[in-house]
Amino acid sequence: MDGKQKLKQWVEDSGNIVFFGGAGVSTESGIPDFRSVDGLYRQQYDYPPETILSHTFYERHTGEFFRFYKNKMICKDAKPNAAHLALARLEEEGKLRAVITQNIDGLHQMAGSRTVLELHGSVHRNYCTRCGKFYDADHILNSEGIPLCQCGGIVKPDVVLYEEGLDYGTMQRAISFISGADVLIIGGTSLTVYPAAGLVDYYRGHKLVLINKGATPMDSRADLVIGGAIGETLKMFLEP
Ligand code: NAD
Repeated sequence: MDGKQKLKQWVEDSGNIVFFGGAGVSTESGIPDFRSVDGLYRQQYDYPPETILSHTFYERHTGEFFRFYKNKMICKDAKPNAAHLALARLEEEGKLRAVITQNIDGLHQMAGSRTVLELHGSVHRNYCTRCGKFYDADHILNSEGIPLCQCGGIVKPDVVLYEEGLDYGTMQRAISFISGADVLIIGGTSLTVYPAAGLVDYYRGHKLVLINKGATPMDSRADLVIGGAIGETLKMFLEP
């Protein structure tokens, strides 16, 4: 039985699958990840993305932060790909219990997934740092320079920047889903960004599937490793 057939079998047999993914889930939608050859790390900026997307950088160079953020992190025209759609279908069929994502693009919800845990927040939610008023992504995109609220406060994306803590409640829910999962499918993540990558340690089952284009530090712990594009792999669950 090849890797894809084995995955198909495990999915068919289970009603308690959890998916944990990262930026690689959205590359087939045209959103660059950080570490692939055409990822944001290989593009020329004055600073690496993890520096620009840090709390210190946001505080000290707010204008430059928003120039990068508007240009690279908000991808308004991106549409869900086969991976997002297959995961939504599996949830609809009662097989998949949750999508836990490091992504901030909102594509899982656009595909129809309902239980989506966004560990790093979302570009679609933005709040005034002075009065708390909510703004959508268009407000950020359409603003000149630093986005401001009617009250004059800066509107900050509800995105977890490097050096900032993750939401406690979301992490607890993620741990609960992963520790109770029968099948854990991990895909499109280099598994190098902590504490998110540490969630894998909570899995107690024997059906840990890794679908990634490149090798990850956790390949040796997986029960099944499928090398290749995740949309190409998961599209089998969209077939009738
Ligand atoms: P990463 O860039 O570190 O790693 C992405 C991994 O996905 C790589 O190992 C790459 O080989 C693999 N990959 C790329 N395309 C793939 C595909 N089509 N199929 C299978 N594998 C593929 O991403 P990360 O581990 O998620 O960590 C980066 C951080 O950056 C995360 O915190 C994330 O929030 C953020 N980020 C998010 C987005 C987004 O929301 N779409 C985009 C860029 C970065």
